[in-house]
Order: sequence, then C-alpha cells, then structure tokens
Amino acid sequence: MKNDFNYKDGFSKLARQATSEDNSDNTQICSSIVAEQLWVKIESQIRQDIGDTAWRNWIKPLHFSGLENDIIELTTTSKLVRDRVKSHYSDKLRLIAKSQSLPVTGFEIEWTEKSLALDMPITSVADAPRITKMQEAGKQTSAISSTHGLDARFTFANFIVDKPNQLAFAAASRVVESATAAFNPLFLYSGVGLGKTHLMHAIAWEINARQPERKVMYLSAEKFMYRFIQALRHRDTMAFKEQFRSVDVLMIDDVQFISGKDSTQEEFFHTFNALVDEGKQVILSADKSPTDLSGMEERLRSRLGWGMVADIHATTYELRYSILISKRESVSVNVPDAVLEFLAHKITSNIRELEGAFNRIAAHASLVGRSITVEMARETLADLIRASSRRVTIDDIQKQVSKHFSIRISDMFSARRARSIARPRQIAMYLAKNLTTSSYPEIGRKFGGRDHTTIMHAVKKVEELITHDSEFSDDVELLRSLLSDN
Ligand code: ADP
Ligand code: MG
Repeated sequence: MKNDFNYKDGFSKLARQATSEDNSDNTQICSSIVAEQLWVKIESQIRQDIGDTAWRNWIKPLHFSGLENDIIELTTTSKLVRDRVKSHYSDKLRLIAKSQSLPVTGFEIEWTEKSLALDMPITSVADAPRITKMQEAGKQTSAISSTHGLDARFTFANFIVDKPNQLAFAAASRVVESATAAFNPLFLYSGVGLGKTHLMHAIAWEINARQPERKVMYLSAEKFMYRFIQALRHRDTMAFKEQFRSVDVLMIDDVQFISGKDSTQEEFFHTFNALVDEGKQVILSADKSPTDLSGMEERLRSRLGWGMVADIHATTYELRYSILISKRESVSVNVPDAVLEFLAHKITSNIRELEGAFNRIAAHASLVGRSITVEMARETLADLIRASSRRVTIDDIQKQVSKHFSIRISDMFSARRARSIARPRQIAMYLAKNLTTSSYPEIGRKFGGRDHTTIMHAVKKVEELITHDSEFSDDVELLRSLLSDN
C-alpha cells in the first residue's frame, strides 16, 4: 500500500488546528492516527527488508500504542517477540525511520498480558479487519461447522518458526494469503510430533478469519475413511461425494492411513481430482513424502507431488529452546532458564515429547510445591531421558571415541592391533553395547565385520579395566556423558 502522507507537514497542520480550534480531544485522536501512520510506514518497510516470514513472526505481533517524545511505543503479548525484536530488529527499525526522515528516534516495546491485549482498542490499521474477523470466528465457533475439531491452541501465533519448519510455514502462509489455490495440493510431511497438525489447524483458523466465505473442511484421513465406509453401508455415496466436493479448501491430515485401503484410495483420488480441477485448494499431510508412500497407487502418489511438497525437519536446539520459552509464558510456574536449556538438550525426539516433558515438570512442581531445578527435572524425567539417550548410534560412538583418542575413524573398522588403537576400539565396542540396543553380532558388523565373541571379549576387558584403573574409568565416563548429552 502506497502512503504519501507527509508527516512533518501533517504534524504542523495538526498543531495549527489545535491552536485555532482549541479542540484538543480531536487533535489527540488525529495526531495518534498520524503517529500510527508512522508505524505503518516503518512496518511495511521492514517487511520488505526482512521478508514475509520474519515479519509475520516478529513484527506483526507488535501493536502500536502511542508516540511519546519521538519514541514509538509498541506492545506485544509475547516476551519472546519483545526480546527478539529488541536484540535483532531495533537497529534496523531505527535506521528505517532515519532513512525515511520520520520524526522517530527509538522504539519501546512493552509486554502485556494476553487478556489485557484483547481489551485494547485495535490500533494497527493493517490488523484491524483481521482481528475483528478472528474474534468473530472465535465467538461463532459452534456455528461454523468447519471449525469443529480444531484445536484453539494450534494457531499461527503459537507456531514458532525456525530453520526446520521455515519452508512449511512459508507455504502455509502463502496458502492463507491467496484467495485462490496457491499450490495444489500443498503436501506437508514430517515425522511425528513436529507440527503438521498444528500448521493445518492454523491454516483452517486463519482462512476462517480472513475469508469467512470460503468453506474449509479439515479432517483426518481416518475420519475420511470412516465416513466413506459409512456412506457405502448406507448406500449414500452421492451425499458423501457432494459433501466433499462442495468445499473450497479440503484438508486431510495423515493421508498415509489411506494407503493400502483400495476403495477409500479410489474415492479419495476422485474427490481430490474433482477439487483440483475446479481450482479448489487441497492441503494434505503425511508422515512421508508422496514418493515414499508405500501402498499408494502410483498415479495417486505422483499426483500428490504435483503441487508444493514441504517437509518439516527434525528440531534444532534453537527451535526447542524457543518453543520452551513460549511455553513458559503460557504457564504461571517459574521455570528457570537453566531448566529450559536442560530440556532442550535432553528431549530431542520431537516437539510433542518436549511439551510433554515441560508439562510434567510444571505439574510436578505445583503438586509437590517444590521449586524447579535442573536436578528436579532430571529426576522427574528420568525415564524419558534414558529413552532418548538410548538413541545414540554406533556411528556417533565411533566418531566421538576416535576424536577423543585422536585416531582415524577408519581404525574402528581396521585390523590394526597396536594398543593405542585397539584399546579405543574396545571402548567404542563397550559403549555401543551400553548405550545402544544393538546385539553383539550387530555391533560386530559395525566394527568391520568382527565376530560377536570379539565384541564380548572387548566389553569384558573394558569392564575389568574400569574397576582397576581410575584414569581409564574417567575416560570412559567422560565419553559416556558426552555421548548421552548430545
Ligand atoms: P504432528 O501432526 O506433526 O505429529 P503436531 O502438529 O501434533 O505434530 O505437534 C505436536 C505438538 O507440538 C503440538 O502440541 C504442537 O502445538 C507442538 N508444536 C509443533 N510444532 C510447533 C512449533 N513450531 N511451535 C510451537 N509448537 C509446536
Ligand atoms: Mg498430526
């Protein structure tokens, strides 16, 4: 949106109005609109500079609340946003204001409670229609059939974006921003607990809010199958077809459940084709990419990959930590940073488990009335932590041990028998037995095809040395903790 308002003139005109008409109330309103225009202008420039994704995550959640002594005051309901903008974007914001010669010298960002923020007047021009619709959508939840079964927590605002989910998030944003089908289909895939369902619900909520006239239908593949079977049983497949083909946006979660079920697959294929042919948006999720969906017919698999295929990768430490920070904001229990760091280090499998771990220690603390410490978290989550440390691979062990003893990784597989090499190799075998669930023969294969008795001998030897040689024992313990702590 182009904005040709001349701010300096605007202010002086308002000042003149104030003195001649002495209508200070009115002037205040006008000047706050002018001031807000400053923010709108800066906001739209930073959006161009940092891109839509970063803008949506960090700048959009800021709400203009006033201008005082050339300082723009902003509020946000997220501490994460506040801190991130302060650390990453405040210089940029100032530079933009300067380069556009706006009467703004700084920005102040204040965190507010969620309930307060909802009561506040809607100030951001760009956000006004959106918030109103969102609120309406929220109120009418029971009246809108398409929001049935949507989790209120699974919104874009609650979705933390970082490298592993950037692409999927960008694709989802594109879908909600366009009035017609952006990509057909949008196919999201990832392992469990990494945010597919969350993103799908977020898309549904957002389309409902922005374009309430579009009919959105979200359901799991299992439900799709169930309804189809019901329709067959009641000889009512026409109505079934009608129902699905009348929507504007069809979302089916976990389509891998359809694989192997021939008649459901066939029906799904027809529904899918009919919708795509009419330019309706189809959004699907699965635990694998379209090409890897075994038990799916080839023509369907290839059709599923025609649009945009976006995968969500395994979490990174940064993403896990950011998610925990935002979880902490939503509870009233005080969880120290060190505990969040500990969790982000230890629970690496997926976000669902990470959230589960966080909830468990928060619940435990409030039940027992104990303050939360790393020690307490370690105790409370002992089973989870053991489970995830068992996921160390033999490759990890071989790498870590060779690095520790400064030998080549190929020596792990070689036949060299010099003690300086054989001993570390035995330690690696011992750790493989202790930290993984692999059997002796499996470990033997991983160490250059050695016999299982060689591994058994190594394990015994290392156990013996541990009890007799404290220096040796320290080495092994250090390696064990390095490997279990990653
Ligand atoms: P999937 O469908 O891929 O198995 P879900 O969407 O059910 O995973 O996500 C599991 C849990 O993790 C949910 O509670 C969800 O809110 C949370 N979650 C996943 N990704 C994110 C994210 N990027 N930011 C915040 N929470 C997330
Ligand atoms: Mg899911």
